Order: sequence, then structure tokens, then C-alpha cells
Amino acid sequence: MTEAPPFPEADLMHIVDLLPAAERARYLEIRAFLQSTVRQASIGYWNREEFPFGLLAEMGKHGLGTLQTDGTSKLFKGLMYVEVARADVSLSALVGIHNELIVGMIDALGSEEQKQRWLPGLTTFTQLGAFALTEPEHGSDIAGGLETSARLEGGEWVINGAKRWIGSGTIADFALVWARDAADGHIKGFIVETDRPGYRATKIANKIGLRIMQNADIVLDNVRIPASNMLPGATDFSKANDLLRDSRAWVGWQGAGIQLAAFDVARAYSLARRQFGKELACFQLVQQQLAEILGNASASLALMAQLARIQTDGKLEMAQAAMAKSTCTRLARASVAMGRSLLGGNGISSDYEMGKLFGDAEILYTYEGSYEINSLIVGRAVTGKSAFV
Ligand SMILES: Cc1cc2nc3c(=O)[nH]c(=O)nc-3n(C[C@H](O)[C@H](O)[C@H](O)COP(=O)(O)OP(=O)(O)OC[C@H]3O[C@@H](n4cnc5c(N)ncnc54)[C@H](O)[C@@H]3O)c2cc1C
Repeated sequence: MTEAPPFPEADLMHIVDLLPAAERARYLEIRAFLQSTVRQASIGYWNREEFPFGLLAEMGKHGLGTLQTDGTSKLFKGLMYVEVARADVSLSALVGIHNELIVGMIDALGSEEQKQRWLPGLTTFTQLGAFALTEPEHGSDIAGGLETSARLEGGEWVINGAKRWIGSGTIADFALVWARDAADGHIKGFIVETDRPGYRATKIANKIGLRIMQNADIVLDNVRIPASNMLPGATDFSKANDLLRDSRAWVGWQGAGIQLAAFDVARAYSLARRQFGKELACFQLVQQQLAEILGNASASLALMAQLARIQTDGKLEMAQAAMAKSTCTRLARASVAMGRSLLGGNGISSDYEMGKLFGDAEILYTYEGSYEINSLIVGRAVTGKSAFV
């Protein structure tokens, strides 16, 4: 049902025109590739919960693994996240985590040796990292509650603990594990190669969204890594704050992208499906829903474009990132629900793309800090009172 191209132009507010000409040309080329090669193919992978290694390799050739390090603008990077999410939300999760939290962390906080060892393979997507922070017993309260431990013993770190929900945990070459140093109590970042004895990852099956992303439960049982595998710039958790703030904002771009996808599908369906002798698109209530989905998507894009401006000036604050994440994902949830009902019964089957988007929106709403926690971060900023710690 998504064969109709995503045109006429859904970007009614001309956000893409804010890009300089060279980036705009690159944007259009990558968008065409994502629409023609990734979007339709991803539906089968999503239904089967399979990872599309071939598609990822193609995405690497289009430079989607280098967004953090290739010097492109914040707006270009954000609009790439939008277009990958418009094609497939799971792959946009991989591209975002990869750039913001894996490449970004190693580039900003890693040693020269770590950068040389990992960045060339990562940026071409021939190697993958997983970001391992959340634990079975600690999600929203991870910063204070983190239990995974690291003990320096005879020139090696010994890591013990468990992690939950870790994207690419079963297929990555290494996990960036956050563990508490038993000596000083600080949370530090460690590169743990996934073939180390004591690393066990089990895929979490039967997810209602992000089904292409291979999320895992991970057990770390006396895993020994060289002392040099600690990120030297991540000697306490606050050192990762800037990157964690940016990755929170990245989900806002995903929220905009999923809404453009919902608009594409809803518009195409309303023009193809006939009831009462006319296309659905002829009915006023259907047009109102299309206008509302596109209005939500446009509001999200405009908010994120302004966020990119603030990021470019180096002034992004956590409350701004939290507001962008919570607002765009709230609107995304509303937009996909409207799209789902616009497809009637066919909106229930994930063989039609809307059912896939409906499930994926739930993940955007909850990960990278749940909707509620991000709202409370904004609430704390505007009242001076913390309601959650
Ligand atoms: C598909 C998926 C992929 C993920 N990928 C990764 C990954 O790659 N790496 C990683 O480290 N993590 C990942 N996560 C974990 C994700 O970040 C957490 O799920 C999220 O932070 C919420 O934590 P939790 O699930 O433990 O929920 P909980 O913290 O148990 O929260 C449950 C509910 O209680 C609410 N709540 C909690 N505390 C408060 C409070 N003080 N006030 C009001 N409400 C509150 C929450 O908002 C939520 O609605 C992923 C999660 C999912 C579902």
C-alpha cells in the first residue's frame, strides 16, 4: 500500500530549504535511495523480526554511518534521521544510536587507540556497537540505581551485571557497557567485545514495535577486558551528559519522520480506497485527519529545526532536548493512531505499513527517557522543583 511516492511534497513549511545547496542535493539523493530500496523491503523484515544486513551495508555506502564525524550540519543530520525513520523506524534507531551514542562516545571520550581500532569499521557499518545502559531492575532511575560493577584486578577490568533492552546486543562487535567502578563508585564506560568469555546476549522476541532492531538481555559474568578498554573521557557519568542530551533530542527527529511516514501511507490509502462510490480522500472527515497528521508532523519538524539551530550555537539544554523528545513523540503517537483508524480494518494488519508505524511509535514514546520522565525534566526546569528525584 505504500507504492505511491511520498509526494506531493509533505514538507509544507519548506524546512528542507533551510539546508545549503550541497546538503540539499545529498539529502534528496539519500531520501530517494531510502524510499526506493529500504521502505517497502523493511515491512517483511519487521514482520519476521529479522535484521536486514544487506540494507544496512547499502546505507553505509550512502554515508549514514558517518553523520557524527563527517562535518555535516546539525540540520542535515537531523533531516537524515527523519528520512531514515520515514523509511523504517527500527533502522533509524540503529542509525541514531550508532551515530549519537557509539561513534559519538568513542570520538568524544575514547583514546586515540580506541578511535583507530573502531571508528573506520563503525563509520562504514562493517562493525556495530551496542549501547548498554539500562538494566533489568533500573530504567528511569538508572543514573542513581545502576548495579553493574567494574573491578580493576591485575591490569584488567572485571565486569559483572545484567543489561536489558540493548539494541543490536546479539549482533554487535562490542557493547559500550556502563558500569560502576567498585573503587570510587563512579559510573564509567567500557568497551566490551561480544566474543569475550562471560558475555551472553539473548534476543528479546515478540516486541510490538522496533521489531527489526535486535534488542537483547545481556548477562556479564566475570567478563575480563584490558584496562585500556575503559573510555578515558568517561571517568564519571556526567562526562557523557552532552552526548546523552543530544541523543534524547535525536528521538524528536524520529518522531517527525514517523509522522511523515504516517502521512504518506494515509494519503495514498485515502486516494486508493473507495467507499460510498468515492475515494476516501473526498470525505471531509478524512481530509481533516490528513491535515491534522501533516500539521503535527510540520510542528515537529519546525520545533526540531529550531533545536538544530540551538545545537549549532552549542547552547542546547537538557530541558530543551526533553521538550523536543516528549512533544514530538506525543504528536507521533496521536498521528499514527489517526492514520491507523483512517485505514479501517487494514490498519490493523502490519502487512500494511500503518500497523508497523503504530507499534513503532510506542517505542519512541518510551525509550531515551519515557514520555513521563522527559515531561518531568521540563517541569523541573519551569518550576525549579524536581518531581522525580
Ligand atoms: C525497544 C526498546 C529499545 C531500547 N533500547 C535501549 C538501548 O539500546 N540501550 C539501553 O541502554 N536502553 C534501551 N532501552 C531502554 C529504555 O531506555 C527504557 O525502557 C526506558 O528508559 C524506560 O525504562 P523502563 O522500561 O525500565 O521503565 P520504568 O523506569 O520501569 O518505568 C515504567 C513506567 O513508570 C514511569 N515512571 C518511572 N518513574 C517515574 C517517576 N518518578 N514519575 C513518574 N513516572 C515514572 C515511566 O514513565 C514508565 O511509564 C530500550 C527500550 C525499548 C523498549
